[in-house]
Amino acid sequence: MMIPPSARDRIEEKLRRRICSVCSESQPDGSCGLPAQYPCTLFRHLDRVINLVTSAKAESMEAYTRRLREVVCSNCRLDLLSGDCGRPQDRICPLDIYFPQVVDIVEKELAVG
Ligand code: SF4
Repeated sequence: MMIPPSARDRIEEKLRRRICSVCSESQPDGSCGLPAQYPCTLFRHLDRVINLVTSAKAESMEAYTRRLREVVCSNCRLDLLSGDCGRPQDRICPLDIYFPQVVDIVEKELAVG
């Protein structure tokens, strides 16, 4: 499904507002604390995440998570699918941690059109 650029922009803006604001990597000045070699998985894979929400629409969170592992994690160079995504212990995967909230935001924004 083709996502209109306006919807994608809206989704990204909302995620930055709602997820970054609670993310442990967020800095007091509002910037992201992740080092350049470990870019945020949520925004790095945003197009794939939006597509998986459209394709698994109206199914369960388990279905979404299964699609996340298949479609996103398997294409992530940190490879969460293997059970050891290679991310250093002190670094998090925001996409994995906040996935239910991300799905909720994407679903609502897609419903707006
Ligand atoms: S890691 Fe991602 S979700 Fe967390 S503050 Fe940085 S950009 Fe936002």
